[in-house]
Amino acid sequence: MNFDNIFDKFRGYADVAMDKVGKASKTAASKTENVVSRAKIRFSINEANDKIDEIYKLMGKRLYEQYLEDLITDPDFVDQCKKIDELNKDIDELNSELTDLRAVVKCEYCGVYNKIESTFCSKCGAKLTKTQEPESSNDDGEEVIEVDIAED
Ligand SMILES: [Zn+2]
Repeated sequence: MNFDNIFDKFRGYADVAMDKVGKASKTAASKTENVVSRAKIRFSINEANDKIDEIYKLMGKRLYEQYLEDLITDPDFVDQCKKIDELNKDIDELNSELTDLRAVVKCEYCGVYNKIESTFCSKCGAKLTKTQEPESSNDDGEEVIEVDIAED
């Protein structure tokens, strides 16, 4: 962060000034203590900033809920809330696309995609093996039929 740099620079100048006055015959131990306590302070600052962000997030959610209840009049807030509406719509569409893709089984022989509930391929009639690669992203708990294929 920029403020940290500025602060460090200021500290640096202060240290130089102290050297000039002749008070800076610090021992290595006290310098280490100084570094440690500065790290602790920075950690506390970051922690506080994280908490503030969390509160902002909750406030934003509350604001959006109020928008849904038609309680928001500020046009800027309404605009932002409408953007959230749009994004939620996008997420819904993407989720249904994901479900469509998941609810499909590829024929090992001809490569045609069939409905997950099909037993035989609609094109070549081969028996479908219902094996799906595990999802790396969040699983929404949808039932997936997995068949282990024995390796030779
Ligand atoms: Zn087929």
